[in-house]
Amino acid sequence: MDKQVVGILGGGQLGRMLVEAASRLNVQVRVLDPTVQSPAKQISNFVPHVDEPFTSSEAIHALARVCDVLTVEIEHVNCAKLVAVEEAGEAKVYPSAATIQLIQDKFLQKEYLGAQGVALPEYARCDTLEEVLAAGDAFGYPFVLKCRLGAYDGRGNYVVESKADAEAGFSRLGGTMLYAEKFVPFSKELAVMVVRRPGGQVATYPVVETVQRDNICELVYAPAQIDGRVREAAMKVATDTVSCLPSGSAGIFGVEMFLHEDGHTVLVNEIAPRPHNSGHYTIEACCTSQFENHIRAVLDLPLGDTSLKVPAAAMINVLGGASGYSSVLEPCLASLEVPGATVHLYGKEDAKAGRKMGHITVVADSALQLRRRTDLIAGRLANASN
Ligand code: ATP
Ligand code: MG
Ligand code: MG
Repeated sequence: MDKQVVGILGGGQLGRMLVEAASRLNVQVRVLDPTVQSPAKQISNFVPHVDEPFTSSEAIHALARVCDVLTVEIEHVNCAKLVAVEEAGEAKVYPSAATIQLIQDKFLQKEYLGAQGVALPEYARCDTLEEVLAAGDAFGYPFVLKCRLGAYDGRGNYVVESKADAEAGFSRLGGTMLYAEKFVPFSKELAVMVVRRPGGQVATYPVVETVQRDNICELVYAPAQIDGRVREAAMKVATDTVSCLPSGSAGIFGVEMFLHEDGHTVLVNEIAPRPHNSGHYTIEACCTSQFENHIRAVLDLPLGDTSLKVPAAAMINVLGGASGYSSVLEPCLASLEVPGATVHLYGKEDAKAGRKMGHITVVADSALQLRRRTDLIAGRLANASN
């Protein structure tokens, strides 16, 4: 395995943690990212990287020629270029170009998953204001209007509160390539990481609870505090969702789900074809991290044990705040003294508000101990950002 070279499109924090995991297996990673000092490149200076946009055709081909496998840390890539790499046999592409294309368009993703029998919130395509209003009539208010492409951290979403609000939402989101989704009154948001080998074999991580604030993941609790039947249901939904992806898909996938306030209905919100924020806890809390299992999967190596090796874990995102980098560093320094805490800083300089600058994982022997440690750190973070 240590003769194989993996190329990653995108060099942010997910790429950085992939490089970390790959280095232990002595797998070389080359990163394609326009930023010379991107988080992933900073920790791997031995191999040459490609300092070009990951939309550049020549750059993707140049990367493919020196790699055995190409993969992504972001789904917003030019899939036509990846198809060309696959067709020319320059490198394998995982997850396949077709799978990335399917997932990057959230409407096509819903169409595909719905046809495979995955439980989803009701949704409808919206290309005109009339269709937005028709969605309001069908779903009631509020409902969620979403951009099909380029979405992350809720930036492509608009909650339409009333008929009178429809036009504002439609134009705010650009008035094209949109779809509407029924508002799900959820009691919790759940997520599961699932890893899949090229032959289709999958391994599923535990069900976690994610807490979003302003559409950005703030906290993850592993395992989720839910009853056994809900846990089984969420595991099955996530496993079925990743298993039904087109043949040849491989790598790690994040499955975001809603637990309806009825207490038992589990619906898929969306999936990510890459390592996911809700899986960062796996570095310290599981036998094999999501990053290592992604590297193993795209190299078609045996998958590692996905089970928890601690009773309880949490992940707290460290976001940029009003007071710049000090709002990042101060709580991280304080966390060094919290038992069970591991600090991850991504090497980003510009700590603009809401930017993911790092995360802190906390492990504990019990849910109570976890809550105490997590509250301590979350309190420091809240103080630092005020
Ligand atoms: P990500 O950064 O996870 O890719 P995104 O921009 O693709 O985010 P979504 O996952 O669609 O956005 O939505 C962000 C958040 O908005 C969800 O985690 C959830 O809290 C809320 N949300 C989205 N869709 C719905 C819905 N149909 N009903 C209720 N809440 C919703
Ligand atoms: Mg998304
Ligand atoms: Mg999401």
